[in-house]
Amino acid sequence: MTYGRLWKEGVEMLVSAEVAEPEENAWILFEFVFGIDRAHYFLRREEEAPEEKRLLYRELLARRGAHVPVQYLTGFAWFMGLKFFVDGSVLIPRQDTETLAEEVLKEVSAGKESSLKVLDLCAGSGCIGIGVANCLAKRGVSAALTEADISEAALATARKNGDYHGIACEYVRSDLFSELNGRRYDYILSNPPYIETSAVETLMEEVKNHEPRLALDGGGDGLFFYRRIAKESRAYLEEKGRLFLEIGYDQGEAVKELLTAEGFCDVRVVKDLAGKPRVVKAHI
Ligand code: GLN
Repeated sequence: MTYGRLWKEGVEMLVSAEVAEPEENAWILFEFVFGIDRAHYFLRREEEAPEEKRLLYRELLARRGAHVPVQYLTGFAWFMGLKFFVDGSVLIPRQDTETLAEEVLKEVSAGKESSLKVLDLCAGSGCIGIGVANCLAKRGVSAALTEADISEAALATARKNGDYHGIACEYVRSDLFSELNGRRYDYILSNPPYIETSAVETLMEEVKNHEPRLALDGGGDGLFFYRRIAKESRAYLEEKGRLFLEIGYDQGEAVKELLTAEGFCDVRVVKDLAGKPRVVKAHI
């Protein structure tokens, strides 16, 4: 069977399975399996495809048709221009989360620090901490990074990512701050689970059936982790420490109130490029 026929078959299969963006997904799987990008595809579409790769392509299409996220099939996702390994134990890095990283980097360029202690709490794939540390390194700022997560499997994936990007980190299995006693950080960054429990079922199949519940479910009102972080994080921040939290688009005011009530100063809600509240940042 030719590459041309296989490409077409892929799109048709994903259309009939009602996968969003079927062409884009077929391209990703096609290139992943055959190692042929779009430009080369047009030169080679009359060529016969090798048998064993055809089988793999069809197997991946069937799994994508069953709404497994494409990043879990290829094993990676992109964040801040870096490749991150992902598997079912971690949330797939979202572009939305780059807003948080950008806010952190803005604060650093405003300051004069040459080294910073950074905690990535609820680290998952480690994308936030590793992405930030990688940019800081390019600016000559060294980061002593701690990646903390309650899931051992997630930490193993974060470690793979840290090693891949040559970022030195400490990996700690911890239920929020439970195992971080005695440590203090200049910056605490977190994208905690923040979906209301009852809303999890309304998410896309890809998310609700395949991404870890543990990384999504923020309790009855979605604020469970913000409440705990607001109460507990002060003890883990240095004197001029800062806290950066990703939030759901409708949680800005609630999270601002929680932090203000715990005595944080200069609590600000930051919007993303689409104009939606996306980050809350505060000073101790
Ligand atoms: N920090 C990771 C991310 O932003 C994981 C977040 C989570 O598991 N809630 O993608």
